[in-house]
Amino acid sequence: MIDGIILKGFSGFYYVRTQAHGEVECSLRGRFRQERLTFLPGDYVKISLTNERQGVIEELLPRETELLRPPVANVDQAILVLALADPPPDLVLLDRLLVYLEQTPVMPVICFNKRDIAGDSEAEEIIGIYKDIGYDLVLTSVKTKTGFDELKNFLQNHISVFAGPSGVGKSSLLNVLEPGFKLETGSVSDKARRGKHTTRHTKLLSLYGGYVADTPGFSRIELPNVSREELSFLFPEMDGYRQDCRFNTCLHYKEPQCAVKQALERGAISQSRYKNYLRFLEEITARERSY
Ligand code: GDP
Ligand code: ZN
Repeated sequence: MIDGIILKGFSGFYYVRTQAHGEVECSLRGRFRQERLTFLPGDYVKISLTNERQGVIEELLPRETELLRPPVANVDQAILVLALADPPPDLVLLDRLLVYLEQTPVMPVICFNKRDIAGDSEAEEIIGIYKDIGYDLVLTSVKTKTGFDELKNFLQNHISVFAGPSGVGKSSLLNVLEPGFKLETGSVSDKARRGKHTTRHTKLLSLYGGYVADTPGFSRIELPNVSREELSFLFPEMDGYRQDCRFNTCLHYKEPQCAVKQALERGAISQSRYKNYLRFLEEITARERSY
């Protein structure tokens, strides 16, 4: 049998990329339908060939991860795209996505786009916050085609999805990386006016030895199901300080002798991150109360 990865499914067929035989159009063994197994782009499979271009999926290998939006298996990297301007960066959303990914095997890469229209000092300040924490970061402009070499380096040997709010340039970035994608770009209202009634089938494209989903995903996300005490575990910059708090149940809010708040006062933890930490803490409190 031959190893492969599903790039896309369409009308009962799956397009599987293999080392030795390129892309093979595969049908499923009947028993998979009875077992109601779903097959997603990103799934590793074993196939047998019926001829040079066609085959049958014989086996589905276990999934490492499974995303719903877009539906892709084995994603190990999310490119979190924000614009530095137009729309202004939504750091609440960014921190929410980071907190969410912190407890999954999916690694975040932050991509600040629209470098060309951002003021230097403002851009530096925002970038500084995330660089200091140690997050992977890339600065791009679709207009001036900058940052794409760095972006390509991140995409190598990973299965990646692009995520982030509308209008930040996700589709534009993907179109530069792979002109074959031909994704619709424009303002939110442009896209709505043109209408998007055709359902897209998510497709993985092999790019620089890795794979990228052509459908951007999760612009909204729930906070993970953690307790209030566990929330700060998901803020890596608080990690080094937490154990020095006086109380081991410290929420780093109003408790005395809190090492996290001392770090905040020294400027070792960013105000904006701490503000979002408190905001999420409040959301978790509200959630726990409603149980
Ligand atoms: P998406 O909703 O995240 O997929 O965003 P789009 O790719 O549709 O881009 C939204 C708008 O921003 C479009 O009008 C793009 O031309 C524009 N845009 C995208 N990237 C850049 C950039 O780097 N600089 C500038 N100035 N505009 C950009
Ligand atoms: Zn504390």
